[in-house]
Amino acid sequence: MTRKFKGIAASPGLAIARAVVLSTETYVPAESRTEQPERELERFRAAVRQAQEEIERIRTATEAKLGAEKAAIFEGHLLILEDPDLIETVEAQIRDEAAGAEYALYQVAQTFVEALSQLEDEALRERAADVRDVSGRVIDVLRGVRGGDLSQLADECIVVASDLTPSDTAQLNLEVVRGFVTEIGSRTSHSAIMARSLDVPAIVGAGAGVRDIPDGAMLVMDATEGMLLVDPTPEELTAYTDKKAAYDRRRAELRQWAGRPSVSADGHRVEIAANIGQLEDVQKALDNGAEAIGLFRTEFLYMGRSALPSEEEQFQSYKYVLEKMAGKPVVIRTLDIGGDKELPYLDLPKESNPFLGQRALRLCLERQDVFRAQLRALLRASPYGNLKIMFPMIAVLEELIDAKRILEEEKRQLVASGVAVSETFEVGMMIEVPSAAVSADLFAKEADFFSIGTNDLIQYTMAADRMNETVSYLYQPYHPSILRLIRHVIDAAREEGKWVGVCGEIAGDPTAIPLLLGLGLHEFSMSAGSILPARERVGSLSHGDWQTLSRQALSLRGHREVQSFVQQHLEGSEQA
Ligand code: PEP
Ligand code: MG
Repeated sequence: MTRKFKGIAASPGLAIARAVVLSTETYVPAESRTEQPERELERFRAAVRQAQEEIERIRTATEAKLGAEKAAIFEGHLLILEDPDLIETVEAQIRDEAAGAEYALYQVAQTFVEALSQLEDEALRERAADVRDVSGRVIDVLRGVRGGDLSQLADECIVVASDLTPSDTAQLNLEVVRGFVTEIGSRTSHSAIMARSLDVPAIVGAGAGVRDIPDGAMLVMDATEGMLLVDPTPEELTAYTDKKAAYDRRRAELRQWAGRPSVSADGHRVEIAANIGQLEDVQKALDNGAEAIGLFRTEFLYMGRSALPSEEEQFQSYKYVLEKMAGKPVVIRTLDIGGDKELPYLDLPKESNPFLGQRALRLCLERQDVFRAQLRALLRASPYGNLKIMFPMIAVLEELIDAKRILEEEKRQLVASGVAVSETFEVGMMIEVPSAAVSADLFAKEADFFSIGTNDLIQYTMAADRMNETVSYLYQPYHPSILRLIRHVIDAAREEGKWVGVCGEIAGDPTAIPLLLGLGLHEFSMSAGSILPARERVGSLSHGDWQTLSRQALSLRGHREVQSFVQQHLEGSEQA
């Protein structure tokens, strides 16, 4: 009978192949003593050297395959083997207590792993996996066994493991490995991030049951849904083989849109951009044909750690994105913390209505130390590409004017101290609060551009929490009240000769795209995976027709009417 597992959709795609199950047993060395501590010390040092050479080889191969950034994980591994706290403690146990090398290393590494695993900081917790990975490698060398060498897999397979270390993932032979499934892990674990960069389907966190999957079992994975079938029935196998063929055909078909501009059927040009949250996302944006970064959510640089990122670290991150985009526009949003995004180390007072409280720019205007450091990092990065700075959650004009004044002060100081700052970057704002949408004509005189954050604009317009299922009937992107606000913002910006984007989820929504195009939106910013289907859709639409149709949609009574109006006209145009 088919068994079914549900895990986290870490990297999309479909795969059908037999399982190669990696041993989940971690080797635990028995307590051992040595008669000759000096020789044991030598044996340990030689094993460390060999492990260093192996890691260096993997590092070089990863750099060639995935770039310097992914290879940095292995620089971290090399540093672990140079960490005097670890190495000297092991050596002391061998020398002073005559402990066997495997046993001494295992014991010492375990104390590191346990200490790191208990930390709140996710990045430090991930270090525990790195220490386990590196010490396991040295122990394998000492024992004279080869670890699970994934580069040796020769037949088509799906790899099943308790967890995959970054070195395992980097070594996957993608000629034959169709996907992988792990028992533990999260969307942000290293292996999940690497799977997305490698574009290999992956499901993580599928639960302890995956350990019982027999080696060689037939597997079907729908990684887009996070679903795994073990021993599928012939009917299931046929259904998924068809689904996979359709998926592959669709992907291949969409590729043709990657290098093209975004132009409607009647020649109206728009820009399709990517939303990113971390540096790894830039490559994916480019691979998917992004013409710009329309939203860099910088708060992710601040989250999952125990202290603020330094100005220098931020500068390096912004410079990296600007350089990688090589002159294409990059809209970097200043810190948008608060609401559901918390930074425990800032020790902010609890609020009873956090989404209506001191969020985003409101907090930055209060905590100017944090804000100014980010602005300096952005200004210093500005000469490295086509930067556009954007302020989130503005409700009143004074906030925009204050933020611009602070930016100008930091710019003047940097220039006075001889730092190069671009003279031409734009400064814009998000339209997320209804007051800003309604008064867009006033804001358009002060801002160089607008990006409409519909995720928040809908919740504040409808007074319906974007995360509360019970009021989700009110959270309706196609409601005429939302579309009217969008139209007003675009019209007001046009009067002042300014451009407008949308970076909320609706920018990539196939039903919303015709309406936004018709209303005169310039830039559509979305997750990388939505870019090619969106470009295809734009290419199928007549801008002229939708200019009229979208304005008709605004006078409909509700979101359902708008939705069926769009569907009807799309079907009409497809038949025509
Ligand atoms: C939005 O509100 O639409 C937006 C893009 O910002 P975030 O989702 O980060 O709040
Ligand atoms: Mg928002």
